[in-house]
Amino acid sequence: MLAFLALASHLRAMCTDPGAVPKGNATKEYIESLQLKPGQVVYKCPKCCSIKPDRAHHCR
Ligand SMILES: [Zn+2]
Repeated sequence: MLAFLALASHLRAMCTDPGAVPKGNATKEYIESLQLKPGQVVYKCPKCCSIKPDRAHHCR
């Protein structure tokens, strides 16, 4: 039973789309719509004009 659950979890992880960072969303309007708290920082990628996730390396 445990081996089956492990295999099922592994197959599900392999077959699930991990998603992607939306490109070109670092517009002034979009950042204002995020309603960030004071002091909260948004990192932008200068190459693709996207908001980078925390600790992400982008467009290298
Ligand atoms: Zn980028």
